[in-house]
Amino acid sequence: MGVLDFDHALAGNLRAARRAFARLGAAMHSDPELEQTGRRCRGEIERTWELFHGLGVAAACAACAGKRPGGCCFPEVALNHTREQLLANLFLGAELPDGKEIYDSCHFVGGRGCKLLLRDSFCVNYFCPSLHTLLGPAAMQELLVQVGREVLAGQDLERALAAWLAARRESL
Ligand code: SF4
Ligand code: SF4
Repeated sequence: MGVLDFDHALAGNLRAARRAFARLGAAMHSDPELEQTGRRCRGEIERTWELFHGLGVAAACAACAGKRPGGCCFPEVALNHTREQLLANLFLGAELPDGKEIYDSCHFVGGRGCKLLLRDSFCVNYFCPSLHTLLGPAAMQELLVQVGREVLAGQDLERALAAWLAARRESL
């Protein structure tokens, strides 16, 4: 896919998610089941980040992302995120950026890391070889169990939002 096609596709996904949330966000938040699924998802995301900070992952990635070329937030990953995932981010309270902050990286990364709350499973599951070495097998195992929980909770939220939309004959 060319750069223009890529940018066009990403802009279309962002626009679709924003429009749906602007129109339906209040109704989504008044649905108790969606709210409960969102709370569970937010809780798992917070637990992952507690572990990231506790084990030094957050610091290692921040140092890495500051180098040039640095980090593993490649431009292509932005388009891995589906419209449902982008909508889920808005539902969770994330702000989706209009433009890129770091030109040769993912649309969603900034000076303080990823701007998304719900990230694609690639983002959550990828730990580079230097992190494996830094953490060792026991900590890696602990981390992988937690990120697995986060991914499942995120998928539940995406599915719940898609079903909510379908029940109202709405689409993204
Ligand atoms: S996972 Fe590895 S490559 Fe990616 S930002 Fe963290 S330290 Fe850097
Ligand atoms: S973690 Fe965030 S900024 Fe990094 S590649 Fe994934 S979505 Fe992009």
